[in-house]
Amino acid sequence: MSAPKWRITVLKLDHRPERDKRLTTHVGLTARAFGASEFWSAGLKDTNIMDTIQQVSNQWGKKDFIVLTGVKWKTRLRQWKEENGEVIHLTMYGLHVDDVIDDIRRSQQPKLVVVGGPKVPNQIYQLADYNVAVGHQPHSEVAALSIFLDRLFEGQMLRWEFPDAVLRIQATSHGKRIIEAEEKKRAI
Ligand code: SAM
Repeated sequence: MSAPKWRITVLKLDHRPERDKRLTTHVGLTARAFGASEFWSAGLKDTNIMDTIQQVSNQWGKKDFIVLTGVKWKTRLRQWKEENGEVIHLTMYGLHVDDVIDDIRRSQQPKLVVVGGPKVPNQIYQLADYNVAVGHQPHSEVAALSIFLDRLFEGQMLRWEFPDAVLRIQATSHGKRIIEAEEKKRAI
């Protein structure tokens, strides 16, 4: 199935290595698996996150997936908008995803999808082209990003294959089956 038609970058705000290691990694892995080409984490630099996601990409494909940590969100957001990109901020306070997703899908502009940390600066709400709510209940960055990308790609991204994958899953009703690139089958 064909690749995404937009350039999508996901930005997670406010990373602190000790507190957020797992969550930030999971946001990055979700971005990679569900159609983004880059993941940026703001806050403190964290090479562990970059290494973990890179290792996944090396094995499961999408080796060109870019991971940056310690990015300065203000500078990046301004640059993104100057370069005619669109900023989509996911927040429970925004417009319901189902009311704006068609407009977002129609636009060909590169999309920067922003998910928050504990406290999102008011400036983000103002700079965003869209503040989008995945329902109006508080849940999580991973849930919000997953559902947003699923709506954007109308579920198709779950069927995309990454041509440079070394490992692939052969779906089975029970157990685990992994196929290596050279077609050697390995049942675990
Ligand atoms: N009060 C926050 C808000 O504005 O959505 C919820 C904080 S939640 C712990 C952290 C992040 O998860 C938020 O900044 C947002 O990006 C995302 N999030 C949580 N619930 C969401 C929802 N219902 N819709 C969209 N994004 C959500």
